Amino acid sequence: MAEPTLSALDPEIARLIKEENKREHETLRLIASENYASRAVMEATGSCLTNKYSEGYAKKRYYEGQESIDQIEELAISRLKTLFGAEHVNVQPYSGSPANLAVYLAFCKPGDTIMGLGLPFGGHLTHGHSVSITGMYFKSVPYGVRKEDCRIDMEEVRKLAKEHRPKLLWAGTTAYPRTLDFAAFRSIADEVGAVLAADIAHISGLVATGVHPSPVGIADVVTSTTHKTFRGPRGGMIFTKKEHAAAIDKAVFPGLQGGPHNHTTAGIAVAALEAQAPEYKVYTQNIVDNAKALGEALVARGFSVVTGGTDNHLLLIDLTNKNVPGKVASKALARAGMVANYNAVPFDPRKPFDPSGLRLGTPAVTSRKMGKDVMLKLADWMDEIVSAPEDEAKIARVAGEVRDLCASYPAPGIVV
Ligand SMILES: *Cc1c(COP(=O)(O)O)cnc(C)c1O
Repeated sequence: MAEPTLSALDPEIARLIKEENKREHETLRLIASENYASRAVMEATGSCLTNKYSEGYAKKRYYEGQESIDQIEELAISRLKTLFGAEHVNVQPYSGSPANLAVYLAFCKPGDTIMGLGLPFGGHLTHGHSVSITGMYFKSVPYGVRKEDCRIDMEEVRKLAKEHRPKLLWAGTTAYPRTLDFAAFRSIADEVGAVLAADIAHISGLVATGVHPSPVGIADVVTSTTHKTFRGPRGGMIFTKKEHAAAIDKAVFPGLQGGPHNHTTAGIAVAALEAQAPEYKVYTQNIVDNAKALGEALVARGFSVVTGGTDNHLLLIDLTNKNVPGKVASKALARAGMVANYNAVPFDPRKPFDPSGLRLGTPAVTSRKMGKDVMLKLADWMDEIVSAPEDEAKIARVAGEVRDLCASYPAPGIVV
């Protein structure tokens, strides 16, 4: 007898996946960290590779039967080396956070001082936030942004670095709409003898094509997720100079992890191949053009856009002048088919779980080939919803319009 399909074996899970598929088709994905992996990436990810154990690295494994796996991992690495101009690549971290932990393990001892952008200013948990292991096991000295223009103040970073002499300095963000000056971080790291780690989790797709300047060759180590602008499967990757290759590889395995997720590695290899195509460069430029267009359209509708606009794929909106808390807005927008997240804005007087802002990103809508005309429509809808977040009739009407729009813009990897 043939093996049962998922829907025959587990109709509950099959139904939930189908519902999620429908949701991803019918709504506008505006979460800055999300994207749509291609059908090819998903095929590689949903393959027999999930069955295989491969502790170690190519040609130095602890299990037999690596004929295909070694080639897959080597292909992923060589494609990424070409794409990012990196001397050494590790594709085994299970995701972005474990990739960052490998940096700590490779370069720091518990109790060492580390510096990163504080979470309330757009930094990531793993850059030393108090609830993260990175803030518990290390002495964290966060830097912030300038009050006047909400941009990272490199003079403050330098001053803090000179005062606290960190072992490790992070340059990387999760809710920051402006270009990072990696060369300035490098000079500060050199002045105080710190290891410079760039975390390009959000922007690696833009970095791959030069739409955002690259830290590869400037930072000692560069970490990233593979599923945000890069548009691969969920995973992590680390680029380093040759001199740190052994330390990073040892930190990932056996320091932190066991067997790599080979199905993910194959998906990363496929995404790296896609990223080498000329269309991908156009795609990443369009992400930024769309974010700028959306930002300008929102400013024209009286929204307060943090820093006045964006250089990258995301916008941070301060809703204080609209008299609507971020969470009320994000929930109403989601009911209207525009799925984003509430977010703290710099110097937010409200609490993190109920902040003043919204974060919006254009990677996923750009993957659906939506352009500036859609961004203008989006700004109109957002304006309508934010000015009446409890008007359920209006919300239902907009949700219908969003559904109609989405019908003409198929999302990669989503079957309708
Ligand atoms: C998303 C993100 C990560 C963590 O990635 P996960 O895959 O969620 O663990 C790390 N650093 C930055 C800057 C991020 O934005």
